[in-house]
Amino acid sequence: MVRPIIAGNWKMNKTIPEAVGFAAGLRAALTSPPDREVIIAPPFTALHAVGEALRGSVIQLAAQNLHEAEKGAFTGEISGAMLRDAGCSYVLVGHSERRSLFGETDDRVNRKLISSLAVGLKPIFCIGELLRQRQAGETEAVVGGQLKEGLNNLTAGDIRHLIIAYEPVWAIGTGQTASPQQAQDIHRFIRQWIAEQYGPKSAAEIAILYGGSVTPKNIAELLARPDINGALVGGASLDVDSFVQIVTS
Ligand code: PEP
Repeated sequence: MVRPIIAGNWKMNKTIPEAVGFAAGLRAALTSPPDREVIIAPPFTALHAVGEALRGSVIQLAAQNLHEAEKGAFTGEISGAMLRDAGCSYVLVGHSERRSLFGETDDRVNRKLISSLAVGLKPIFCIGELLRQRQAGETEAVVGGQLKEGLNNLTAGDIRHLIIAYEPVWAIGTGQTASPQQAQDIHRFIRQWIAEQYGPKSAAEIAILYGGSVTPKNIAELLARPDINGALVGGASLDVDSFVQIVTS
């Protein structure tokens, strides 16, 4: 049984004082946390300060993106080693906003996954279909393609350090959640795909999170499904009370 994971993706929100205030509030609210892994992903500018505010707590720090190169002439970019330095243990890779707004391809996502693992960062690998792809009955083909390309050259040993987040793009930030059964069906498909490529042990151990308009109201029924091991939460992770309700539900 995979321990449930709740991760909050703040996107481009919160100044350093706001982020540190949130971290202090979350920490205070989770003095006796449920048996869940709790992760927050502030913007780059607040990572170090939030990491300090969380030091010694059960809450883990994630970045929202990284560059795949170790270092060099990549103005404006941040490497995995820098994220480790700032206190991160996780990093989001291939979020749909990175894919759609910043042109990240499956090949680039693959290189980012490899670079994350090389520096000891655990990637949260995001995949999911567009609305028109779902309507055309292409969901499994799209998600299967993202898995195949994104995980190219990764071994079963690598997969042990990786989390998958299934986020149907039509459900992100829209208030339109996939039904628990729709989500469960694709989570099951993903787990079967992992079993075929990496064997049943990897499939049983890998955490597959659902993302897309998760709120305190719908989290419990999503987590009740056997192949949903947690959630990646955007909008509802920006408010301490609502995030705490999701973590403790
Ligand atoms: C996300 O950005 O990963 C996300 C799921 O956002 P929201 O919860 O706002 O739909």
